[in-house]
Amino acid sequence: MKPSFYDLNYSDLEMLLKQNNLNSSAAAVLFNWHYKKKQSTQCYENIAKDSLIFFQDNFDFSLPEVDTVHESKDRTVKFLFKLKDGHKIETVLIPFHNKYSICLSSQVGCAMNCSFCFTGTQGLKRNLTASEMVGQFLQAWRWLAKNRSGEERVLNIVFMGQGEPLHNFDAVKKACEIFLAQHGTSIGVQKITISTAGYIPGLKRWSLEIPGVNLALSLHSPFTEKRNELIPINKKYPLDKVLSYIDKIPLNKKQFITYEYILIKDFNDSPEDARELGAILVGKSAYINLIPFNSFPGSYYKRPDLDKVEKFKEVLDTFKIPTLIRSAKGDDVLAACGQLNSKN
Ligand code: SF4
Repeated sequence: MKPSFYDLNYSDLEMLLKQNNLNSSAAAVLFNWHYKKKQSTQCYENIAKDSLIFFQDNFDFSLPEVDTVHESKDRTVKFLFKLKDGHKIETVLIPFHNKYSICLSSQVGCAMNCSFCFTGTQGLKRNLTASEMVGQFLQAWRWLAKNRSGEERVLNIVFMGQGEPLHNFDAVKKACEIFLAQHGTSIGVQKITISTAGYIPGLKRWSLEIPGVNLALSLHSPFTEKRNELIPINKKYPLDKVLSYIDKIPLNKKQFITYEYILIKDFNDSPEDARELGAILVGKSAYINLIPFNSFPGSYYKRPDLDKVEKFKEVLDTFKIPTLIRSAKGDDVLAACGQLNSKN
């Protein structure tokens, strides 16, 4: 089987051209064609014939196949993609003012087994390759160009779909490098966010290798017992260690860490939970996203009433930490946070 073209970052491509005595300027041409113009055909403009033949003969240009598309009444779009080995993954386009954020999956299933998450019930099947992550982006963009012409503006990329991105660091890093390359999609580094359940080995690599990319930590409870239930890797990498590791990472001026907090009825939604959460985050470059729980088939947690959510936020406001209550976009098609699964 030929390797995928979409697994090559810009420097891989330049090196490959040099090693094969081809003109290295083709790297910019190819990135421009496939990532900026997002063409689905072979590149034929401004490229020497020998370079074109080399790539046609040696690389695979296919992308994950669109299996099913669900459109939510709030215009969220959920894709089920079929991969070459038959595995399936989900990707979500989240609209805001005719622009979109895309939520990418990084693994088939997930090893973290979080109790509030549909993906966690699947177990880990395998890591995705960079090309399978870049492919989700390109296919979603093309769907927009075809079905919502003029709206094909995907301005933010969040690795918050299926999988723990820092558990598949090499491929996620390569996908980020491809998105960031100036001749390609040239998405700004501050427009990419990686979410983690607190996997410290991956956090270390993120802080050293792609530090400008934003980080979102799934926090969900400041209390050990509750967090152990929600995020079992808390037993191996406890929250205090994760937070103290994050605290030591130098952030650039405009950078902050997002702390995600899923609010579950009568479990972690009391004023006491809010006060403890505020106490551990006060003084940090923090931003809190409150996410009322989204149910999925077989889930036993419940979503709290809106007034309880608002009271939780009021407590956090007293700590002067910027806090946003996230609306559940796409929950009618199981596209909201924690609802992704490969069997839909
Ligand atoms: S919340 Fe994230 S890390 Fe936890 S099981 Fe779901 S996909 Fe994995």
